[in-house]
Amino acid sequence: MGAVVMLTSGFGPGLSPHPGPLLKGTGGARRILVMPVDEARVAALERFHAAAKTRILRVFPGQGSVQVLELSAGEPIEEALASYRASGLVRFAEPDYAVSAAGLLPSDPHFQDGTQWSLNNYGQSSGLPDADIDGPEAWDVRWSASNVVVAIVDTGVRHTHEDLAGNMWRNPADNTPGFNGLTGGHDPWDDNGHGTHLAGIIGAVGDNGLGIAGVAWRVQIMACKFLDSTGNGYNSDAISCIEFARTNGANIINLSWGGPDYSDAVSNALWFARRDGIVVVAAAGNNAANTDLIPFYPAGIRLDNIVAAGASTRLDGVWILSNYGVASVDLFAPGAAIYSTANTGDSAYVSQDGSSMASACVAGACALLRAQEPALPPAGLIGRLLAAVDKKPAFANKCASGGRLNLRRALDRPAITALPNASPFELLVTGAPQHWYVIEATTNLATWSAVQTNRTDAFGAWTFTDPPLTSQPLRFYRAGPGP
Ligand code: CA
Ligand code: CA
Repeated sequence: MGAVVMLTSGFGPGLSPHPGPLLKGTGGARRILVMPVDEARVAALERFHAAAKTRILRVFPGQGSVQVLELSAGEPIEEALASYRASGLVRFAEPDYAVSAAGLLPSDPHFQDGTQWSLNNYGQSSGLPDADIDGPEAWDVRWSASNVVVAIVDTGVRHTHEDLAGNMWRNPADNTPGFNGLTGGHDPWDDNGHGTHLAGIIGAVGDNGLGIAGVAWRVQIMACKFLDSTGNGYNSDAISCIEFARTNGANIINLSWGGPDYSDAVSNALWFARRDGIVVVAAAGNNAANTDLIPFYPAGIRLDNIVAAGASTRLDGVWILSNYGVASVDLFAPGAAIYSTANTGDSAYVSQDGSSMASACVAGACALLRAQEPALPPAGLIGRLLAAVDKKPAFANKCASGGRLNLRRALDRPAITALPNASPFELLVTGAPQHWYVIEATTNLATWSAVQTNRTDAFGAWTFTDPPLTSQPLRFYRAGPGP
């Protein structure tokens, strides 16, 4: 009896060719890996880094707190390794041979200086290492959603901004970047700032050496204005924006606003969006309230294409004013001290707090996921997002998923395929380079157990042999993101 390979839960049919490692920014980038001797000497090690002008790029908390370090300019890598080895503070120090293991680090200055903790939190500014959405690891898998249109139904967007202009949607009819529900025209200029800030979070142009990196480095931002310069507006104008977005090709709609009053008309507009396969991301609101008891709409509308996001902090806590609710909030995402594009100038940036920012972060994640899974219905796409969260104590009993967005886990779906004529039986797992995956097996399609956890090579491949197979009549396999 032969083995059966089953590809389950959205894993691609068969082997999809992987483009190979994306080796970006390797020119001149010199990184090393060190592991602290023990917890007690981490502080001394940090002083050693400061003296050496070394910067911590990333910490692997589950793996002995291995640190990825960037050396100061001009320091020979061999000398740096020798001095760390001689310091008595590290178990090992080695070159970071596989650049992609540290993820894809874009050239945007405010990503590189650590301001964008939501994408890569290595403990900067007293944050908790890895309280982030794992941006660099996710971008190893996918950083472009260039075919995906994200409509921001809000105060408009400063579409001339240096870090947004390249990612604006353009109306094929007149080259305008959106719609204005207040005037009925096509000029969505932002006279408030809220929408421009959301736009940068979702899709500021990544790796362009300017400003920040959006969650999606390439995407099409459709600006739909209905909130006035004070940030207020009417449901009717929101509906005309939602209709413009729906009938002009939006794949994702971001709604970072709301109130206590349920609207049948808004609900109806979003039902049509659902029918057309549009994912709607909505902010949970900023009243520090349990929205299971005190509802907030449109986030609280019960449609399976709406995902409601609360705001989390750099310590992986619930932001102090964020709403929450097991039945009404789906997940948390970074929404405090979020640095993004400002409407005050084409090179202006500003930091803001709120579930609005969390919603935009989730909308950017949905854009990348939609680029990867063009045919997945909205509920399936949202399900992928919620299954991939990092569950943390602070979010348990505060939202349906019990966790905070993790973009890598959402995107990182390895393909698994049987190698023909191999004896013993072999499987090939292909995914992102140097990523950890777990293979699970079952004989009854009900109970799955992990049979191996391993890391792909520099080309994203890993061959797996299953020795016990000879004693099993039939086995099914699947692969998913590892630890
Ligand atoms: Ca991380
Ligand atoms: Ca940028």
